[in-house]
Amino acid sequence: MPFSLVYYLSHFARIEWVKNFFAAKTAPLETPPYFRGFPELTGELCQHSLFCMMACPAPGAIDVVHSGKKWEPRIHKGHCIRCGLCVEACPHGVLRSGRILDTIHREHTTLSFSFRIDIDPDKCMGCGNCAVACPVNKVIDAQMSHGGKASTDQLLLRVNAGKSEVLHMEKCTGCKTCENHCPNEAIRVSRLLEAVQNPEAP
Ligand code: SF4
Ligand code: SF4
Ligand code: SF4
Repeated sequence: MPFSLVYYLSHFARIEWVKNFFAAKTAPLETPPYFRGFPELTGELCQHSLFCMMACPAPGAIDVVHSGKKWEPRIHKGHCIRCGLCVEACPHGVLRSGRILDTIHREHTTLSFSFRIDIDPDKCMGCGNCAVACPVNKVIDAQMSHGGKASTDQLLLRVNAGKSEVLHMEKCTGCKTCENHCPNEAIRVSRLLEAVQNPEAP
């Protein structure tokens, strides 16, 4: 038995092993460069139409304030999920950011794009890589622990009872970071295209 104890200590009771044992199972993951930034002002004059505020799905992310002699949208970074909807909603081009969600009017047809997340419960191992990697989740809860567990239900997705689940689909920007970080191909992000025909439309 003394041999077993020596063997055990030499193989397991090393500083590196102890560090790894207590360290996070999911390492902090890099946000990909193609994930867009927060909306910025273009310099165009704000007309105070408030379309940006109406389009915004994140409570408290944007307001329009009177600063000096003009109106101006203000982005609150702790709340903004960088979906880009305010950019697209503003008819005066006051804001800019990368565009992923889109609506196009073409030949009497309106084309709208959105996203959908499918999680295969048989393949999901509950590792939490998707939830930890999601850039939207990082904005909402920068302290999210390994395993994708979190204290707020405002997250886009999290792990609950050993499986990943989507809480706020409307916050997804379709960047596919979750899909790219899943070790078991359990999560899929797809882009949906809806076409509505309207003979009256341009
Ligand atoms: S990018 Fe999205 S969440 Fe951020 S202010 Fe604009 S509409 Fe709101
Ligand atoms: S969907 Fe994939 S990355 Fe997310 S918890 Fe399940 S196995 Fe892990
Ligand atoms: S595609 Fe995945 S990683 Fe990207 S915003 Fe949506 S849920 Fe988050």
